[in-house]
This record gives sequence, structure tokens and C-alpha cells, in this order.
Amino acid sequence: MTTRPYTLLLVDDSQSTLPRLARALGPEDFALRLTGYGPEVPRLAREVALVVLCPGQDPAGMLALLERLMPNDGTVGPPVVVLAPAEPRNTWLEALRLGAEVIIDPWEGDELVGRVRRSLAQHHRLQSLSTQVGELQRLSATDGLTGVHNHRHFQERLREEFRRAQRYDDALSLILLDLDHFKDVNDRYGHAAGDGVLREVAGALQRGVRETDLVARYGGEEFAVLLPRTHLTGALTVAERVRRELRALRLGGDGTLHVTASLGVSSFPHRTVLSPEQLLLTADEALYQAKHEGRDRICLHPQMPPFPPPSSQGS
Ligand code: GH3
Ligand code: MG
Ligand code: MG
Repeated sequence: MTTRPYTLLLVDDSQSTLPRLARALGPEDFALRLTGYGPEVPRLAREVALVVLCPGQDPAGMLALLERLMPNDGTVGPPVVVLAPAEPRNTWLEALRLGAEVIIDPWEGDELVGRVRRSLAQHHRLQSLSTQVGELQRLSATDGLTGVHNHRHFQERLREEFRRAQRYDDALSLILLDLDHFKDVNDRYGHAAGDGVLREVAGALQRGVRETDLVARYGGEEFAVLLPRTHLTGALTVAERVRRELRALRLGGDGTLHVTASLGVSSFPHRTVLSPEQLLLTADEALYQAKHEGRDRICLHPQMPPFPPPSSQGS
């Protein structure tokens, strides 16, 4: 939030507006900075609470700058006030269309103050709404218990990443991970302790992968790790590291609780993986296989080359 005095950037090639503006706004509430039209204006504009543009002899240049100051990426830029003469009307009509507040010159000080204050208040409301929207977006993609991404967000990203991999002929891997005999953990230590374990497992997963990888709680005690730009061998290395890290965790209040996990791995490109659903299905089949073969291990979808040899597991 901007604190008083508000700093205003006046963009004006002539020297005539500054003294009038300074008189109208008063120094207690507003500090003024003056600059001419130039490439540095957008950068300077990011440092102030509001920008005042005077078209001077170059209305087209002013409008071009105004267009640059209006962000088109969903972010909120500083409010802009244009002080324009009544003629030519096109200049200020276009400024209005671009989203600026317009004050016709010659202006009265009280009107200027009123409009500047209104612009600042509107901007403040927009900024706090934008912060709230950002927070809601974050929450809607997050699993409440563990803080990693939720199932819905995972499904969205799986589709996005699959499309991207197909388009750019790139690799994409998926690890599905299910904690072994987790029902016993709840039965022996209680549901609250079970929840704590899920949180710690999620934290360990998040720490164990790259920032570009996506960790999500797929459901219950099942997690998914999506690995963009990663081939099968890379995914297997990650899966093996994760498997070892999880079984090494000492959990619960006294560190006597520990868990193991079974992991299923699948990768694109592969002749059986032609859609995001197939990537998910093949990883799920591989996970089922890992459970079937005795848990605490990694399996690949049966159609993929066998890895790792049984002797390298179990530690
Ligand atoms: P398996 O090795 O075959 O996966 O055995 P399992 O006991 O993990 O599998 P099962 O699907 O029979 O049970 C899953 C358990 O996970 C049962 C349920 O109580 C527990 N669980 C699922 N979600 C949560 C949760 O949010 N918190 C807690 N504490 N436990 C959960
Ligand atoms: Mg389980
Ligand atoms: Mg399960």
C-alpha cells in the first residue's frame, strides 16, 4: 500500500504545469517528480502512486506512452491522469478509452485534487482485489492438509504439460506414489498422527524434486509427481531417490514411526502413451504392480523396459 505523501510523476515537456500542479496539490499529501517524454517513463511510473500526462505538442506521443503504461497482462499499473486541452477532442477521448482519468485544461485545483484522490482510491481497491484474487487462486490449487498442489490443479497441469510435450517433441514423466499399509499407521497411531505423516511426506517430496516439477496430493495417501522435460531414466532416478528418502524419514513425536511407499512410473513419449489419461493410467498400473510385487518398490508400466533390477532395491 502506498503511504502519504503520495509521489506523483508529472510527464511534461514544457515547464508550465509543474508550479500549477504543486500549488493545487499541496506538499503535505503529494510529492511531485517531473520528467519529459522518454523511454525511462514506464520504469519511473512503477515507482510512483500516480502518473500525470500532459500532451503538450505531441498528443500522439502521449497516447503511445499511455498505452504502454496500461498493463495488458492482468496486473494493476499505476493510475494515470491526463491533463488535456478541450481541442482536439480525439486526444482526450482516446485517453479515456485507454483507461486514463481525463481533466480538461484549463482545470481548477479543487477538481484536480478530487479526481486525483478518486483515482488513487480506485487504484487501491483494485490492488487489494487483485491480491485477494491471487490468494484465492493459490488456495484453489492447494491441498488444505499438506500444502502441495491438489488433485484439480494436478489434472490441469497434466493436460497442459502433455500438450506442451507433444507440441515440442519433449519428454514428460509421471510418478504415482502410494504409502504402504497406511491404514495401519492410522490404526496404531491415530488419524491425527496419520495426517502429520502425510504433511511430512508431502514436504519431503517437495524438497526432493526440482522447482519445475509438480508435486500434488492425488487423493488420500497417494501423491503424484509430474516431471516436465524428463525422460524415463531421469524419472526413475527421482523415484528411487524419493523412495529412499521416504523410508529414511523418522516420524511421529519420538521418531519411531516410519513409512514406505510404492511407486509407479510412466513416461511420454511411448507408443502406449498417447494422451494424458494414458500417462496416468500406465503410471497407475505400474503402481498397482509395485503393490502386487511386495510394496516399497518402483515399477514401470509393463510395456516399458524393465527397471531397476530387483537386486538394486530394498535398501
Ligand atoms: P496399501 O499398501 O495397499 O496402499 O495399504 P493402505 O493401508 O495404505 O491402503 P488402503 O487404501 O487400504 O488405505 C488407505 C488408508 O489411507 C486408509 C485411510 O485411513 C488413510 N487415509 C487416506 N486419507 C487420509 C487422510 O487424509 N488422513 C489420514 N490420517 N489418513 C488417510
Ligand atoms: Mg496405501
Ligand atoms: Mg491408496
